Amino acid sequence: RLAKEGYRSQLLYDPSVERGVPNRLALLGDLRRALDTDDQITLHYQPKIDLRTGDLAGAEALIRWQHPDLGRMAPDTFIPMAESTTLIHALTTRVLETAVRDATRWAAAGWPVPVAVNLSTRCLLDPALPGRILGLIERAGLPVSLLQLEVTESMVMADPIRAQLTLRELHEAGFHLAIDDFGTGHSSMAYLQKLPVDELKIDRSFIREMAAEQASCVLVRTAVTLGHNLGLSVVAEGVETEDDVATLRNLGCDIAQGYHFARPMPADEFRDWQTAWTAEGGRLVSEVAAAP
Ligand code: C2E
Ligand code: MG
Ligand code: MG
Ligand code: MG
Repeated sequence: RLAKEGYRSQLLYDPSVERGVPNRLALLGDLRRALDTDDQITLHYQPKIDLRTGDLAGAEALIRWQHPDLGRMAPDTFIPMAESTTLIHALTTRVLETAVRDATRWAAAGWPVPVAVNLSTRCLLDPALPGRILGLIERAGLPVSLLQLEVTESMVMADPIRAQLTLRELHEAGFHLAIDDFGTGHSSMAYLQKLPVDELKIDRSFIREMAAEQASCVLVRTAVTLGHNLGLSVVAEGVETEDDVATLRNLGCDIAQGYHFARPMPADEFRDWQTAWTAEGGRLVSEVAAAP
């Protein structure tokens, strides 16, 4: 009812229109309908690169919403909105199903690339989640090692006990778990040590800071050391330049993800990208650039 021209009349009564913010309820309605379509909601994949070998280490699945009237919507705007309602469950199911379908297709074609899906707080606190994810990959016949899950530090701190239970169940089932946006939350080191996770993703803001002042990479260095001391693989997100790559390799960071290697892209493009990457010997761009 609120879609298309309904939008306009709805907006007339919304004070947020003056600030250029579309009506929240209308948007939620649109999102609910979008989830019933095949074309509005899609996933893009962004490669994660092993900094020692230059090999593809996996890919992160990132949701995209092409709104029929408003164009492309940023996940940072509609994910929090969905998360404040139960719509987040349908959204997460859609993302998981799509990621599992793509990963299964790739594995069947002889290309077993681990795909990481972002989970929201509300999902992480849902006791039925591990069973649902397991059912999904079992039905698809996807090995558990090819689906990874990312949760943020602040999400875990929302309900540490419940979150820890769910993470433990997922970890015991064999899923590779990552703490996303590390450094932006408020978890203590003691708590972090108790979490059954495999990977630490250093938040983009720290990589940006490192790039702005190469000399002061103390925060990134500390995060790498902390992660390694806890036996975790350390990933840097938001890697945009060759200098970032060089610094991160010197700091012993394991994996990098960012525009320097590739932007998130549609599934088919991601396959093509990987073919080209492998044809180049899967070398780091810094080495490729140094070659005659
Ligand atoms: P995130 O999980 O930390 O994902 C990384 C974000 O950084 C992505 O933004 C990605 O496009 C962006 N990025 C990657 N490399 C670079 C770079 O070199 N420079 C810069 N400036 N940005 C880079 P995106 O796709 O807009 O997603 C934003 C956030 O929305 C994600 O942050 C994640 O928290 C959330 N999100 C995305 N997809 C999903 C999903 O399917 N489910 C849930 N629950 N959350 C999602
Ligand atoms: Mg993520
Ligand atoms: Mg992240
Ligand atoms: Mg981040």
